[in-house]
Amino acid sequence: MNNGNTKQTAEVAVEVLEALGTAAVVVNDSNVMSHATSVAEGFGLQRDRALIELELLNLVELARKTKSSQSVEGAINVGGRAAKVWVLASAAPIGSGSVLLTLEDRTEARRLDETRRDFVANISHELKTPIGAISLLAETLQGATDDADAVKRFASSLQREAVRLGHIVQEIIELSRLQAATEVKNLAECKLADLIHDSIDRVRIIADVKRMRLVSDLDESVSLQVSYEQVATAITNLLENAINYSDAGGQVGISLKSIDGFAEIVVTDSGVGIALDDQARIFERFYRVDPSRSRETGGTGLGLAIVKHIAINHGGDISVFSKPGLGSTFTLTLPITTNSKEVE
Ligand code: ADP
Repeated sequence: MNNGNTKQTAEVAVEVLEALGTAAVVVNDSNVMSHATSVAEGFGLQRDRALIELELLNLVELARKTKSSQSVEGAINVGGRAAKVWVLASAAPIGSGSVLLTLEDRTEARRLDETRRDFVANISHELKTPIGAISLLAETLQGATDDADAVKRFASSLQREAVRLGHIVQEIIELSRLQAATEVKNLAECKLADLIHDSIDRVRIIADVKRMRLVSDLDESVSLQVSYEQVATAITNLLENAINYSDAGGQVGISLKSIDGFAEIVVTDSGVGIALDDQARIFERFYRVDPSRSRETGGTGLGLAIVKHIAINHGGDISVFSKPGLGSTFTLTLPITTNSKEVE
């Protein structure tokens, strides 16, 4: 292809790729960019500049040498951004030493892949313990058929492990659903104080068992658009934790206020508290400060991850203030001026 034809090909290709919103540049035989789409500039690739990123230069050289299209996926530095960007880069020779280079930002796709992989690895690990216990108990039960008391004991342990397994699976499904959702479904205007009373009722039994007092101070006028079930789940999880991580006979408080366009729900306990290092991690999936205590209370390590997703999906936030030995305060904020997204 002669120089004139190459120039024309480059112009047409870049025009098409510009219309498609693709990051694309054409480099000449000296690796200077002769054409660039506007999206390419976001990657720090600008017309009349030399291509300097080593991985991209190597890719361009390879395409030129082999006279065929080449692609590579990896992290590159892009103009002005501190973190590297994970890209899929493709290079195609278009004549006279010129090469068309396109870049696709795959950072988010890669992050999602990693999250998914981690999640699956964590799930397998978490399910192994109760499944192992069930199988062991069933085996022991088989060998104890002539001892009625032992049968009763093993059967009740078996049931406890089965319930625990069911609970983990239910929370995993709940969290996957929340993570997959791009928008909150079933939004409806609701009086938040009523929703909180409902959440308090859901934890009443476990509070009674531990002789805990539940004290509420709720602004009855706060009303906003939420997914009722999701927000009730979030508040129930916070109340359950406040009860579970406190000594018997204590008190758990919940308040609701409206502050600067946000509904602020605060759950306070005077329980075991959480050390500063752990506070940064408790919203991660499967993270538990004290796994044996969490196991005792039937905890899955997913409760706060679920709360966090529900808060974020509603445009809100969750934060914690805590001192070991003194207690914890969890604050859930939800914007009052919610957008009127489509209700499913
Ligand atoms: P779990 O099912 O183990 O309770 P969560 O995700 O709800 O999982 O909480 C993660 C961890 O954070 C818990 O295992 C516990 O160590 C800690 N935690 C959560 N809430 C409280 C609280 N109110 N007081 C003390 N520790 C808490």
